[in-house]
Amino acid sequence: MMKVVDKKEKMEKGIDDLLGDRHEWVDMEKKEIGNGENQTGARIAKRTFKPGVVVSEFDVNFLDEGKCRKYLLEIFYPEGARCPICGKLVPEKSVQRFWENKKMKCPYCGKFYFATSKTVLSAKKLSFRQIYLIALFLGLGVNPYKIAELVGCDKKIVYYWRGYFEGLEVKHG
Ligand SMILES: [Zn+2]
Repeated sequence: MMKVVDKKEKMEKGIDDLLGDRHEWVDMEKKEIGNGENQTGARIAKRTFKPGVVVSEFDVNFLDEGKCRKYLLEIFYPEGARCPICGKLVPEKSVQRFWENKKMKCPYCGKFYFATSKTVLSAKKLSFRQIYLIALFLGLGVNPYKIAELVGCDKKIVYYWRGYFEGLEVKHG
């Protein structure tokens, strides 16, 4: 009998079902392990290189946090490092700290800040690579449930970002 799968379930199961199981199980050959004893019946998981396996074993640690940070901050500060509070340029000696998103003190307005302060990047407590991946996966049309699973965050956060990007489209046409 055919199993009826509703649309939502289909979406949630997504890629895994399309691309197959994570492991193939292989029965080990009977092998003598010394003293005349045989190791029998053992099964080992043989991992196969295929898209379904890569998806199921995906980890945000594959991405370089520093590269994602640089990429995102440069989008938000196209004219260089600036105090997000008063807008003055960051003095040369502190520029590196700024791009590393370390705590800063502005010599002009005297306020403490991070490069992410007052930007959407600080809206939810995510790493730069998580934010980068959410944007990437939304751009690829991956469903939010799957994105939350892959990125390791609550799906509400994915919806938050989706809403943010949709808002940008409305603003800029
Ligand atoms: Zn300032």
